Amino acid sequence: MAGILVYALHDDEGNFNKNSLGALSEAAKLAGELGSEASAIIVGDVSDDAAKGLGAYGVKKVYRAKDVPEGLAQPIVDAMAKVMTDNDISYALFGGGLLGFEIGAGLTARLNAGVTMEVTAVRAEDGRLVVERPILQDSQIADVGYVAEPGIIIGRLNAFDENETGGEAEVEDVAVELSEWSSKAKLVKRGEQRGEDVNIEDAEILVGGGRGLGQAENFKMAEELASSMGGAVAATRAVVDAGWYPYAAQIGQTGKTVAPKLYLAAGISGAIQHKVGMQNSENILAINKDQNAPIFEFCDLGVVGDLHKIVPKLTDAIKAKKGG
Ligand SMILES: Cc1cc2nc3c(=O)[nH]c(=O)nc-3n(C[C@H](O)[C@H](O)[C@H](O)COP(=O)(O)OP(=O)(O)OC[C@H]3O[C@@H](n4cnc5c(N)ncnc54)[C@H](O)[C@@H]3O)c2cc1C
Repeated sequence: MAGILVYALHDDEGNFNKNSLGALSEAAKLAGELGSEASAIIVGDVSDDAAKGLGAYGVKKVYRAKDVPEGLAQPIVDAMAKVMTDNDISYALFGGGLLGFEIGAGLTARLNAGVTMEVTAVRAEDGRLVVERPILQDSQIADVGYVAEPGIIIGRLNAFDENETGGEAEVEDVAVELSEWSSKAKLVKRGEQRGEDVNIEDAEILVGGGRGLGQAENFKMAEELASSMGGAVAATRAVVDAGWYPYAAQIGQTGKTVAPKLYLAAGISGAIQHKVGMQNSENILAINKDQNAPIFEFCDLGVVGDLHKIVPKLTDAIKAKKGG
């Protein structure tokens, strides 16, 4: 057995997902170390040019299952299981995300494979892949090896960086017979993008708003503070789920990973799933009325108090200092 297969997710316009492209680059690097090849699998209606273009991320071959719909896990499990079995591929690598988790879990069951999730790094050792997986609330890293193949590796979001080196991949169309149960679910709608105009990954200063803001309208307060410092606003999942702020601004395990110069957390408890997305910020400042909030365990500067009083005053003070 040999080789690494990466599922490359795309939207309806044929744009590939950033985490998938990161996984492709990672697979290409690892395949080089293993002396094997990395390949990609795409489903649905993807043009020849777009498919070949994935070669720019180091994969030699792209398997395209045109008749398999994008967005639903079970048909993609059928496609990946077939390609891995027919081509004797040793590993499947996913860039993270809910769909990747779902497909990876299904593929594991189908191929009777070993699986590791939330992987943050992968390396080749003695001709096999070994993965690193944070454990115990991210305080320790476990090295996990596979005693048999195939192995399924599901990355944590943003774990793998894309590396565009140029080149074209060979495209092979594959016909996939869907399992009976794979066509029982139907995708009704796909591709809704909430708040796509928010760009928090490039911001050097972020004001993160949490449930402590109290209501959606109070995000205005966070926005004013962020704008007084030339920064942007981020959010916790709790407030995104409540519909207070767009998903594009969500930080954490199921959102984005950021590392700004300053992360000012306002009314955020500091749950582990949020922490993993912002813990690498250079400076973390937290405002929380609960002195026992977990965020005070890992922030650089903590202010215990009511954000509704502190944030407007801080904004005024910054504006005054800047002369505006
Ligand atoms: C599988 C899974 C994935 C998840 N992924 C994510 C993720 O990607 N990102 C994420 O953020 N979460 C994620 N979560 C949810 C996470 O566990 C927490 O529930 C969430 O981060 C809490 O958000 P919060 O801090 O806004 O709310 P809370 O935990 O409710 O915290 C609100 C804080 O505000 C403080 N507060 C209240 N009023 C005031 C005030 N007037 N002044 C100052 N402070 C005040 C409170 O003391 C409290 O500490 C995930 C959970 C699961 C199970």
